[in-house]
Amino acid sequence: MPDQIAGLPELRGDCGSCFGLCCVALPFAASADFALDKPAGRPCPNLADDHRCGIHARLRDKGFTGCTVYDCFGAGQKVSRHTFGGQDWRTAPKDRARRMFDVFPVVRQLHELLWYLTEALSLPAARSVHPELRRALAETERLTLLPAEDLAALDVAAHRAEINALLLRTSELVRAGAAGGKGKKGGKGKNRRGADLMGARLRGADLRGATLRGAYLIAADLTGADLRDADMIGSDLRDADLSDADLTGAFFLTQPQVNAARGNTGTKLPGTLNRPGHWTGTAGE
Ligand code: SF4
Repeated sequence: MPDQIAGLPELRGDCGSCFGLCCVALPFAASADFALDKPAGRPCPNLADDHRCGIHARLRDKGFTGCTVYDCFGAGQKVSRHTFGGQDWRTAPKDRARRMFDVFPVVRQLHELLWYLTEALSLPAARSVHPELRRALAETERLTLLPAEDLAALDVAAHRAEINALLLRTSELVRAGAAGGKGKKGGKGKNRRGADLMGARLRGADLRGATLRGAYLIAADLTGADLRDADMIGSDLRDADLSDADLTGAFFLTQPQVNAARGNTGTKLPGTLNRPGHWTGTAGE
């Protein structure tokens, strides 16, 4: 599926330009998502010498579903190629390798913000805040280019909070402008911000223009739901059923969220996102 927003291709993970940083830097605990425990900074035993995953095609079967729902938003190649100039952690001095692993999650957060800001700048209804969004994008990009020492010391939470305020204003503008919004703040869409909707029966629900920011939609039944123009930022869609749901125009939705959900060929996604390979079945099934 083609990218419809300029700048987004650079914000997708390019494993061929990375030294497998996510498979080393990040910790994971044995659970339904990971078959084993791994502390931060230790290479996953499935990581091959060429920095590729040795079980890539069988991750779900092997109990590594968590890996299939992860995206670095291009942080891996940025840290590998820019911050550390193409140096491989395997051959780097130990303290330098450790610094790579410390910096990677910081740059990952910044790249996620770049994704949201880039998308926000593509939304015509948010035109009045485009100048602020452009400044925020430039500042965030500048931060990603800092030397490793500065990145390690960065207060990324404070930067996130600033950007989040801007994204909230963007959301209000977009949802107010959504069809049916009638110019009201937030449109007609429901406010489900941070709501606990785990396992909720939302089959066929009208959630057009809703805000589902940070909502817990784990295992929710959203079959056939109308999620057009909904704000999906940070919503937890693990095992949510999006079969036949319409997410056209849904914004601040990312590939990891979609990968974590279930769906079918009838699920309508925003044009910037790919249909996950594990989504099977046809519309109406
Ligand atoms: S299982 Fe594969 S993708 Fe997951 S951390 Fe290990 S090497 Fe990386």
